Amino acid sequence: MGSVDGRAVLAVDDLVYDVEQASDGALPSSPRRAVAEHAALHELSARLTAGSAGERSPEPLGPTATVLLGPPVPWPRQVFGIGLNYRLHAAESGSELPSVPLVFTKFPGYLAGPTADIPVAAPTTDYEAELVVVIGTQCKDVADGDAWDVVAGLTVGQDVSDRDLQYATKPAQFNLGKSHDGYGPVGPFVVSPDLVPDRNALQVRCEVNGDVRQSDSTANMIFAVSELVGYLSSILTLHPGDLIFTGTPAGVGRTTGQYLRAGDAVTTTIDGVGTLSNRCV
Ligand code: ZN
Repeated sequence: MGSVDGRAVLAVDDLVYDVEQASDGALPSSPRRAVAEHAALHELSARLTAGSAGERSPEPLGPTATVLLGPPVPWPRQVFGIGLNYRLHAAESGSELPSVPLVFTKFPGYLAGPTADIPVAAPTTDYEAELVVVIGTQCKDVADGDAWDVVAGLTVGQDVSDRDLQYATKPAQFNLGKSHDGYGPVGPFVVSPDLVPDRNALQVRCEVNGDVRQSDSTANMIFAVSELVGYLSSILTLHPGDLIFTGTPAGVGRTTGQYLRAGDAVTTTIDGVGTLSNRCV
């Protein structure tokens, strides 16, 4: 599931359909509400795949490559970021391994689509390729073992970060440094966990101008998806559409000194989930 012009859409066989239209009004147009309809979306997808969605076959909006996608859930209630969740990244940051998840907020208003330009708002603008978890069920106090049941799906995110701003204060304060306008490309679609090859071991990669800067498996996360959902939901209620940026692998510009510049092409890929293609401006 994704969004076009703020409306929920479904990608089936490389074609994009408006969810409300294709379901004859049975499913909502709001991505935040539609993302909670896991079973119904699967059903709709199966019907569209079979090409037998009733007498009137719904008209697609167009092929996936030609449709301008927004972030899959444009206005989530909550967006969580997890810091230092890969051993090698914690080491390159000169930080000790966290004993509980290091959680910060990305403010929802900064989110951008999978092909949106990244505005280079500061000289130390950095890339962070991340697996993003999308919550599908309102939940509180979820046991780690049940965590995948409340996950609508997975998507790709760039936790773009202004390092000077992130570390401007002591102690460091991540929220604003990660929330410049446009500092959160997400997408292209929320992929149901049962559709990815191995939901606990996905390869995350970031290329800048074709040069591989980050590459690691989510199997190497310090806190796995199930632990992050369990931890967060032990503190507060999670809502359908909420996003969890699960942390970034080693290789960020803060380590190498190679920050993003206008004109750079950033390609962020998670095998089996999708690709973001963003140009810095
Ligand atoms: Zn991050």
